[in-house]
Amino acid sequence: MREQAVRLLTNLLGIYSPSGKEELIASFIAYEMKKLGFEVGTDSVGNVIGVVGEGEPTIFLCGHMDTVAGHLPLRVEEDKIYARGAVDAKGPLAAMVMAAAEVSKEPAFKGKVLLTCVVEEEATSRGVRHLITQGIHADYAIFAEPSGAENITIGYKGQIQLKVICKTQTGHSSTPWLYENALEKAYEIWSQIKNSYPPLEEESPFNAVTACLTKVSGGRATSVIPFESEMYIDIRVPPQFTTTQVFDETQKVIEQYKAANPKVEVKTSIEDTVEPFEVNKNSPLVHALSSSIRKVLDKPATLLRKTGTGDMNILGHAMNMPIVTYGPGDSHLDHTLDEHIVISEYLDSIQVYKETLLKLAELHNKNGKQGNQQA
Ligand SMILES: [Zn+2]
Repeated sequence: MREQAVRLLTNLLGIYSPSGKEELIASFIAYEMKKLGFEVGTDSVGNVIGVVGEGEPTIFLCGHMDTVAGHLPLRVEEDKIYARGAVDAKGPLAAMVMAAAEVSKEPAFKGKVLLTCVVEEEATSRGVRHLITQGIHADYAIFAEPSGAENITIGYKGQIQLKVICKTQTGHSSTPWLYENALEKAYEIWSQIKNSYPPLEEESPFNAVTACLTKVSGGRATSVIPFESEMYIDIRVPPQFTTTQVFDETQKVIEQYKAANPKVEVKTSIEDTVEPFEVNKNSPLVHALSSSIRKVLDKPATLLRKTGTGDMNILGHAMNMPIVTYGPGDSHLDHTLDEHIVISEYLDSIQVYKETLLKLAELHNKNGKQGNQQA
């Protein structure tokens, strides 16, 4: 198994597959999955969908085939494989494929694995969004992204992309006392928004609302007082809030500013939102994965909550089922020039996935679907 697993991963890493250019890797992975015993098909956006096993429960496994752009040549050094996509996320994806193929040969496994290799996760999440529109019928879901073999990612923060436009009367820059400066006004609003959230020291970064000023523009000429400015603010939302709640609070701050500054015209618009997501820690999915990590690695599992957002946010809300993110590799190496995976960790994670599938099917068939609802 070891050799076969390492070969599958190195072959996947040998195929350059930036978002939007997944055709080659898709046909390769479809071919490999067929050889491993999956029933395989491809959908209209290019996702590869494989099924092994039958009966209940249905466990949905999902990983992405694309990487960020930027070729990073494949090289193996001692126990590490360096390549674009080694951790994000061909390592986790290959581990899932191997584990599902292995588990389907176990007579003790009574269940079905629906394994989907999606396109364009690093771009528009086109693959995952398409799956959601088609409807995913499963009882549990695991998303393949690097969490480290001994960790489980159970939550991601949400996000609001806010755009704020300020307009003022203009005049010559030699008379700044006569007019309001739209760039300065933007910065005043930004400061008030930033100060409206509790300071980070009072909360863990995961549980805090944070805001980051990401883009500012304005001003026409060096001799003209800026009369229009545009700024973008990236607000991150923890699971105890919805994006609407946080936006409403932010809007109040802006309304107060407007009341105090009647000469400044302020317009806000939401460019994009993603809801935060956190799985119920008491779900059988988290239990099965934690106990498998303990069994394989002889260590307790660590539950991670991430300050970023992932496809799990989209999937978690669209599908009414427990979902976690798990996979080998250090996510700090995502998108870096040093991206690599440790082979032993990759192999361990195959065992963890496999044990998890077995345990989950066992728990599900023993307890029925009780306890399988989201809190
Ligand atoms: Zn990824």
